[in-house]
Amino acid sequence: MKASLLRVELHCHSEFSFDGHIGYSELLATAAKRRLDVVAITDHDTIAGALEYQRRLMKASATLRLIVGEERTLADGSHVIGLFLREPLLSLTLPALREEIASQGGICVIPHPYRAVSGALRERIPELTGLCFEIFNPTCSRQENCLAEPLAQRGWIPVGGSDAHYRRDLGQCVNLVALDGTPENSVRQALLGRSPVSVIGVPQRAGEGARRHIRPQYRAMVPKSLRPAATKIFRYLLSRFDRPLPELELKHAGTVNVENSPRQHVHPGASDERIEKHFAIEKQHQPRGQF
Ligand SMILES: [Zn+2]
Ligand SMILES: [Zn+2]
Repeated sequence: MKASLLRVELHCHSEFSFDGHIGYSELLATAAKRRLDVVAITDHDTIAGALEYQRRLMKASATLRLIVGEERTLADGSHVIGLFLREPLLSLTLPALREEIASQGGICVIPHPYRAVSGALRERIPELTGLCFEIFNPTCSRQENCLAEPLAQRGWIPVGGSDAHYRRDLGQCVNLVALDGTPENSVRQALLGRSPVSVIGVPQRAGEGARRHIRPQYRAMVPKSLRPAATKIFRYLLSRFDRPLPELELKHAGTVNVENSPRQHVHPGASDERIEKHFAIEKQHQPRGQF
């Protein structure tokens, strides 16, 4: 946690999600391997896993910090994330949910805004201010990600999330956030737009489609008594074919002043490490609040 830039994963699913497969020890090991300082657990319609993992991390005095989040399913099937939660979310519409998240002192993020089935903006953009949204989600198609880019012009805060359901997907999209007090406070300041957040992620080819996960209905086809064993075999097979992450590329350069955006200084294809170094140097040379 010595680095001046924190590496933050804002969207992943523990095994408490109906379709998630990231166990506690897998989270710990993979976060260390991928140099993640902070991870937000954002399970579907529950905070039980996030609370449980947070309790275990605190008991173990682990350096990894965890943000309790939830990816809430609204009445129309849209997904909306609340971060820094204390209680499970109940609301079924975006305006009500945003109020509910704020009443807990939390922060609202629109994940995969233009995903065909669960994107909250797929039909219309609400007249709301101060929202965070995913400018990059590696499970979306390239076209869905491109559609989200102009949302930054509404004054909304662009962030990224891996939407990891399996451990190998953790850290496919990382937010770089300047350390400011505690790691949790640093993330909060960035999501409130008070300090910049830059997004790096795995490269996506032109025309690349959305990624599909194993559908939950296939899981339901396995008899209940066999599911624990089937899950073990499934995870073993996944780990056997674990691929190393490709170098992450810059998806969004966090800046308060667009004129000074470092995007123009970063060479396309610059390595993950070079991008981080670049931001650290920019941060030293620029006034607070700018990269
Ligand atoms: Zn989702
Ligand atoms: Zn998700």
